[in-house]
Amino acid sequence: MAAKKKTWNKVNIVTEIGKCRYCGSSMVNTDSFVVFLSTDKNGDREKAHYACMVKDDYKQIINKNKGEIQHGK
Ligand SMILES: [Zn+2]
Repeated sequence: MAAKKKTWNKVNIVTEIGKCRYCGSSMVNTDSFVVFLSTDKNGDREKAHYACMVKDDYKQIINKNKGEIQHGK
């Protein structure tokens, strides 16, 4: 089966969307990013690179598991 090709307008408008919560560099809408429910001091939603968030998630999981290891059934 041939996959249908979507024909988007080939206009790539790169807009700066804000700074990454983790690494602090500014992101553009073409980056892979996530938006948090929390807001910063300007009332804007906090955003982060997807990659940075994944890295931070892993860190938290590792820290959590340092002291105690939970045994699931
Ligand atoms: Zn980042």
